Amino acid sequence: MSCAIRNRLYLCLVLAFTLLCMACTPQDEPVYHDQFFAFGTLIDLTLYDAEPDTATQASSELEQLFTRMHSDWHAWHPGLLQQTNRQLATLESFTADPEILPLIREANRLSGLSGGLFNPAIGKLIALWGFHNDELPQGPIPPKNAIMALVEQAPSSTDVSVDGGRLNNHNPAVQYDLGAFAKGYAIDRGIELLQKLGIRNAILNAGGDLRVIGQHGARPWRIGIRHPRQPGVLAAIELSGDESVFTSGDYERYFEIDGNRYHHIIDPRSGYPANATTSVTVIHSDAATADAAATALFVAGPELWADVSRQMGIHYVMLIDRQGVVHMNPAMQSRVVFETQPRNIKLSAPLS
Ligand code: ADP
Ligand code: MG
Repeated sequence: MSCAIRNRLYLCLVLAFTLLCMACTPQDEPVYHDQFFAFGTLIDLTLYDAEPDTATQASSELEQLFTRMHSDWHAWHPGLLQQTNRQLATLESFTADPEILPLIREANRLSGLSGGLFNPAIGKLIALWGFHNDELPQGPIPPKNAIMALVEQAPSSTDVSVDGGRLNNHNPAVQYDLGAFAKGYAIDRGIELLQKLGIRNAILNAGGDLRVIGQHGARPWRIGIRHPRQPGVLAAIELSGDESVFTSGDYERYFEIDGNRYHHIIDPRSGYPANATTSVTVIHSDAATADAAATALFVAGPELWADVSRQMGIHYVMLIDRQGVVHMNPAMQSRVVFETQPRNIKLSAPLS
């Protein structure tokens, strides 16, 4: 197992353990639990009050589904996305694979709502920074002129027209990378699968990014938000009904040179890692939107996050800036219980 995967697995295990402790399930409760590895992280399934046979069937179907989605949508391993990127590079119209088309449509829609801060068309920039790699890159920082050349070509989802099942790309710099959104989209498909099997109460958790349905018996599900700069939990949130919580952080994949951190969330406007934020947590009904929004708001930073949230229809946001100040809207504040008291909290005007 590579060092990067081992580190990530370790972090996931720590977080999964923390979440389990917070769930604090006594032995006699009807809780089913299973884990598998996909999307470079530990996928953790918890069901409450499910029939044992249904639970094992759900778990095995879920693992098969996630394994297929991971390989279809992978940004740098051979698969459907790579094939689609090769076709986009021809600048000629082609029929898109039905396993990719709905993701591209939805990613394009969310990219538009975010004003291009969530930009799934910047695969070339992500690759230039070395993040299309199973190992964590160690640098060097890419040459400035190579970064600027890509920024000037301004690859965007608006360069790709979708006509029925056909795609036509007009910008040679466009290459799709669905890394900021595919995990959320996959969790939504996973929850659909659980619901089709009649499961009503579940958490589907991919390394701390998750969607819940129903309740944990008589009480809501309770989940932890990781602290961006120290081990352990920053805050807890209670969830019930149907909700997703996604966090984008600069601690997931990064390298350091001369004390500066170069991480995997790139500001499409500058071509460099977005540097005003350390983490953003979003609560939203569907996981795909929450995932794309967490990335977009990370890029938007402390100045713009509230405007971009309104554009994207997001009602709950917590952003930690580089100074450790917590920015959030009043609705989010009413749901967050801090385990580690933040240095300073800055409340925005209501988002809706
Ligand atoms: P994670 O997947 O680590 O939870 P994100 O959801 O924020 O974090 O996704 C980060 C990934 O998204 C990067 O590894 C890269 O593949 C891609 N990405 C980076 N910057 C952007 C951006 N501005 N817009 C869309 N995708 C991005
Ligand atoms: Mg994301």
